[in-house]
Amino acid sequence: MVPQRELEQLLADHVARLRVPVLRGVEVTALEDTGDGVLVGTTAGTVRTGWLVGCDGGHSAVRRLAGIDFPGTDPELTGHLAVVDIADPEKLANGWAWSSRGAYRYGPQPGRVVTVEFDGALADLPHARLRSRGGGPPWRR
Ligand SMILES: Cc1cc2nc3c(=O)[nH]c(=O)nc-3n(C[C@H](O)[C@H](O)[C@H](O)COP(=O)(O)OP(=O)(O)OC[C@H]3O[C@@H](n4cnc5c(N)ncnc54)[C@H](O)[C@@H]3O)c2cc1C
Repeated sequence: MVPQRELEQLLADHVARLRVPVLRGVEVTALEDTGDGVLVGTTAGTVRTGWLVGCDGGHSAVRRLAGIDFPGTDPELTGHLAVVDIADPEKLANGWAWSSRGAYRYGPQPGRVVTVEFDGALADLPHARLRSRGGGPPWRR
């Protein structure tokens, strides 16, 4: 099992070696196929590029903006994962805790919380629903 922060650091180091710029906190909001490339509208301005690859998750804005359908079955649950500072971690069960509405797991690292909620899918949301408060490393959110 690879903790998310280590995986993100490995990937960040790799793209840094390849000199690929990563724009954190910038959202893709529009796209236009110009025939010989793509104009990508973002919250930091417009970017012209040869190709646009949509790897923006289950609620992919790129897929929606490109008019690509997402056939399949409706989602039945929503999951969240966070690494957070918790005021009273001793009040949480260690390991999975289940109820009729969902489950959470605290651990194995301090501050790591996973939830699984049995109330279907979230409506489409801006990609950064859960934002970190203050600074800190990018995985801490
Ligand atoms: C609680 C939980 C536990 C999980 N546990 C496991 C596990 O143990 N093993 C396993 O294999 N899988 C697990 N998964 C599933 C796994 O996390 C996903 O399958 C995987 O992260 C999908 O990767 P992805 O790159 O397609 O999308 P994501 O990881 O969702 O990445 C999409 C990225 O695109 C960004 N983005 C979205 N919209 C925009 C936009 N408009 N503009 C710019 N950026 C945007 C998002 O901020 C995000 O960084 C778990 C998921 C959850 C929620």
